[in-house]
Amino acid sequence: MKRITSIKTRITIWYTSLMFVLIVVVLSLVGGLSYQLSTDSIEKDVILQVTQVTEKLSKMQRDVFDLVDSNEEFKNVSIYEANGKYIVGQYIYDIVNIPFEEGVPRRESIDGKEYIVYDTKTPSPPGIGGGFWIRGVESVNSTMLLGRSAVIIMLILIPVILLFTALGGYYITKRAFRPVNNIVKTANDISHQKDITRRIEIASDSKEDELHHLSVTLNNMLDKIENLIIQEKQFTSDASHELRTPISVILAQGEYLLDIAKDEKEKELAQTIVDKANQVSKLVSRLLLLARIDQHRQTFNKDKIDLGVLVDIAVDGMKELAAQKEILLFANVPEGTIVDADESLLLSAITNLISNGIKYGKEAGHVSVSASKLGDGTEIVVADNGAGISEEHIDKIWTRFYRVDDVRNDEYGSSGLGLPMVKSIIELHGGEITAKSSIGHGTEFRIVLKD
Ligand code: ADP
Repeated sequence: MKRITSIKTRITIWYTSLMFVLIVVVLSLVGGLSYQLSTDSIEKDVILQVTQVTEKLSKMQRDVFDLVDSNEEFKNVSIYEANGKYIVGQYIYDIVNIPFEEGVPRRESIDGKEYIVYDTKTPSPPGIGGGFWIRGVESVNSTMLLGRSAVIIMLILIPVILLFTALGGYYITKRAFRPVNNIVKTANDISHQKDITRRIEIASDSKEDELHHLSVTLNNMLDKIENLIIQEKQFTSDASHELRTPISVILAQGEYLLDIAKDEKEKELAQTIVDKANQVSKLVSRLLLLARIDQHRQTFNKDKIDLGVLVDIAVDGMKELAAQKEILLFANVPEGTIVDADESLLLSAITNLISNGIKYGKEAGHVSVSASKLGDGTEIVVADNGAGISEEHIDKIWTRFYRVDDVRNDEYGSSGLGLPMVKSIIELHGGEITAKSSIGHGTEFRIVLKD
C-alpha cells in the first residue's frame, strides 16, 4: 500500500478518526444513559400509581374503582380479582395472561413490544374474599423508538459532521502549512535558478507561530550566506585585481631577461619565468572575468556579429598551437550567419573551446567549428577527435578549478577555469552550452544562442 506522505493528510485522517470514535462513544454513552433514566422514571411512575391505588383500596375507598376507570392520573393501573379476573382499568394492553408477581417491577414482552409491569396485592378485606391484584403496566416502546430514531439521526449526522470536520481541518492545516510550501518553493528556486537573493515569502498577516519563526530564521540565514558569497566574490575580484600589476611587471621583466640572456641556461630560466607569468596572468584574467560576471559588473555590448568572421579570427589565432601537434583546424560557418553577441566575449569563449580541442586532442587529429541556424537561434559546435572525457567527469567539467586529470593537465598549464568561464559567457548571453564526449573518440561542445 502506498504510504501517505503528506503531513496534512495524516493529521486530517488522525483527528477525523479520533472525532469518529469520540462521537460514537459519547453518543452511545448519552443514548444508553438517557434510555436507562427514562425507563427508570417510567418504572417509578408505574410503582407510584399502583401504590396509590393499593393504599386507597386498603383504606376501603370505594371511589377508587371510578378513579382507575377514568382518571388520567391512574391510566396505567388496573384492578383484578384475587383469582386474576379483570375488574377495571384504562389501558389497552393485552397482558391479562401474564402471571401476577407481588412487588417485583419487571419487563415483559408482548407481541414484540416491551412493557414494565408491577403488581401488588391488597389484603383480603372482610366480606369481599381474596382481596385484589393491582397491576401497573406501561409501555417502554416510545423510549425505544426514540432511541432508534436517535441512532438513525446519528448515522446520518456522523458522516456529515465528519465530512465538515475533515474539510475544515484540512483547510486549516493547509493554511497553517502554507509557510512550509513557501520554504520548499524558495529552496527549489535557489537550487534550480542558483539565485541566492530569493527569500521565503512571509505574508504580512501571518500569525507569529513556529513556522513563521522558522521562515524568518531561514531568511536571516540566507541573508548571511548571501553576504558571505558577496564578500567571497569581492575578495576574488579584489585579489585578482591586485595581482594584475605585479604579474605584468614580472612578465615584462621576464621578457627583458629573455632578450638579454647571455647563454642557453639564462634563456631557459627567463623562458620559464615568462611562461609561468603568462600562465598566472591568464588565470588572473579568467578569475577577474568570472568575478565580474558573478557580480553583474561585466560590461556587455551586444551587437550583430558575423559569426563566420569571428570564427575565422579564433581559428587563425590558434593555428600556431594546432600546428605544434599537427592538428587540422576546420571552420564551417554558412555565410551571413549573424548572431547577437558581445564580440570579444564570444571570441574568447570560442577560442577557449578550440584551444581545449587542441590541448586535449590527439597528434595529427582535427578540431572543427561549425555553425547552423536553428528556428529561433544559432547553434555553434566545437568538436575534436581527441582523448574525450569519461562519463564520471563530464558533469563536473563546468565546476571552477575542476581538472579531469591533474598529471596530464599540468603539462598544459591548465587551471580548470576555462570551461566555467565559457559557460558564464554563454549564460550571460542568455544561451546554453552542453558537452558530449566519448573516451578515445573525442568531445563535442554545443552552444545555442537565442536570436
Ligand atoms: P583547463 O583550463 O584546465 O583546460 P577547462 O575548464 O577548460 O580547464 O577544462 C576542464 C577539464 O576538462 C580539463 O582539465 C580537461 O581535462 C577537460 N577538457 C576540457 N576540454 C576538453 C576536450 N576538448 N577534450 C578532453 N578533455 C577536455
